[in-house]
Amino acid sequence: MIQDILPQRMRNMFERKEPCDTDRLMCFSADKILLRCNAMITYPLYGDLRRWCAQKNEADPQMIYLFSVGSAAYFLAKLPVEYTAALRQDGYEFVRMFDIRRLAPREEVFAAATAWHLYAWYRDNRFCGRCGRMLVHGESERMLRCMDCGNIVFPKIAPAVIVGVTDGDKLLMTKYAGREYKRYALIAGFTEIGETAEETVQREVMEEVGIRVKNIRYYKSQPWGFDMNLLMGFFCETDGEPEIHLDERELSVAEWVKAGDIPDDTEGLSLTREMMSVFKSNFS
Ligand SMILES: [Zn+2]
Repeated sequence: MIQDILPQRMRNMFERKEPCDTDRLMCFSADKILLRCNAMITYPLYGDLRRWCAQKNEADPQMIYLFSVGSAAYFLAKLPVEYTAALRQDGYEFVRMFDIRRLAPREEVFAAATAWHLYAWYRDNRFCGRCGRMLVHGESERMLRCMDCGNIVFPKIAPAVIVGVTDGDKLLMTKYAGREYKRYALIAGFTEIGETAEETVQREVMEEVGIRVKNIRYYKSQPWGFDMNLLMGFFCETDGEPEIHLDERELSVAEWVKAGDIPDDTEGLSLTREMMSVFKSNFS
């Protein structure tokens, strides 16, 4: 899966860090990230920016430390327009977040997804939602604080479930209605306030396909920064009739697929596809 980057490891612990020359700059514009990709992803380096700023007699732009992978630290940076133009001359381009999951290596794809999640949180939380004043960055942990009313804003992560509903050697597979992602998926949905993850599983399966489920077992979780989620995978079995009543607002397709007919996972990124593969391997 996207987070499985051994022997590398992402260190998300909050630190107050100054950038060094080999650290990476994560720069976003709308739904795109700045990178260069020949065979492998390269992000702009702090050292190049520092030298450019010195040459132009400009102060370094503001940067926020995000996380580290191996010996490299990743910083969120708002780059000067002129410097971005120079990088583009050098082969860098803004690539849609939707498209980067196909790139390599995996640790840099995971870094992009995680940086995007943090970027979107900082971008959307500049002001206090309670009193409207500007928020300031926490000194000792990842949080934003309102100095006026005391409101504290922690990173926002939306918990959601992915559900492998099984009936003997068949798995319930779906396709979303009205989304860019066109391949097979599994039943999925967000946890409501006041609900356990297991209750989310029961509710989402009932809402999307009208089936009661039992024997709900936790499988694994996955951080999915592209959509600011923490995904929790569960398997369960039908409880009674396996007849599908499709919610056409959510799904365009829901069908029982025999284990042998489940397509192979060529990406190895998503929890959804790993769950499909795990189910398939139980019957082969
Ligand atoms: Zn406030």
